[in-house]
Amino acid sequence: MRALYIGRFQPFHLGHLHVVNLILKYSKEVIIAIGSSQVSHTEKNPFTAGERFLMIKKTFETESVDLRRVNILPVPDIYRNALWVKHVETITPPFDLVYANEPVTVRLFRESGYEVRGPEFYKRNLYSGEEIRSRILKNGDWESLLPQGTAQVIKDIDGVERLLEIIKSDKKETSYREMENSI
Ligand code: ATP
Ligand code: MG
Repeated sequence: MRALYIGRFQPFHLGHLHVVNLILKYSKEVIIAIGSSQVSHTEKNPFTAGERFLMIKKTFETESVDLRRVNILPVPDIYRNALWVKHVETITPPFDLVYANEPVTVRLFRESGYEVRGPEFYKRNLYSGEEIRSRILKNGDWESLLPQGTAQVIKDIDGVERLLEIIKSDKKETSYREMENSI
């Protein structure tokens, strides 16, 4: 059995790791599809697909996840839901079942005939991309929500600086726009 697990992994956190370990209990192999792979350097999607790949790979190395059972692939958006499943199928090896929670993703894969399982959320109030990005911006404790491999990549690429700068330039753009509108 080969299972598909899709996410944006901005960044890859302990909730994601929990799901991967659960999948590997029931399936021989997992495909981790890094969604919205073309997007980076925004508040909601700060990291590139390559950086997210590294977070996942480093985490699996340090957490002793068997890399022979894991495939990690980037999947860009196509903004066309009706073709989404086909699009994913052209990028990944064949898979037998899908792990997903997001309602549209669940519906699209079910409509294409796949079995979809919704993994239970694991400490969702803590382990969520949004919570982690907001802690990074507020200089809070973000590291404890991440596997060590992910935290290391964020430090290596100056990820905290990057997020702070993205926010600063977003604010600048907004205030320019407000100025223009008031002229
Ligand atoms: P964001 O807040 O940026 O959306 P996220 O934490 O939801 O980040 P995604 O990359 O959107 O992360 O999630 C990928 C998949 O992992 C989704 O199916 C999501 O429901 C699931 N997931 C996210 N957090 C957890 C968690 N704590 N426990 C179990 N599954 C999770
Ligand atoms: Mg999400």
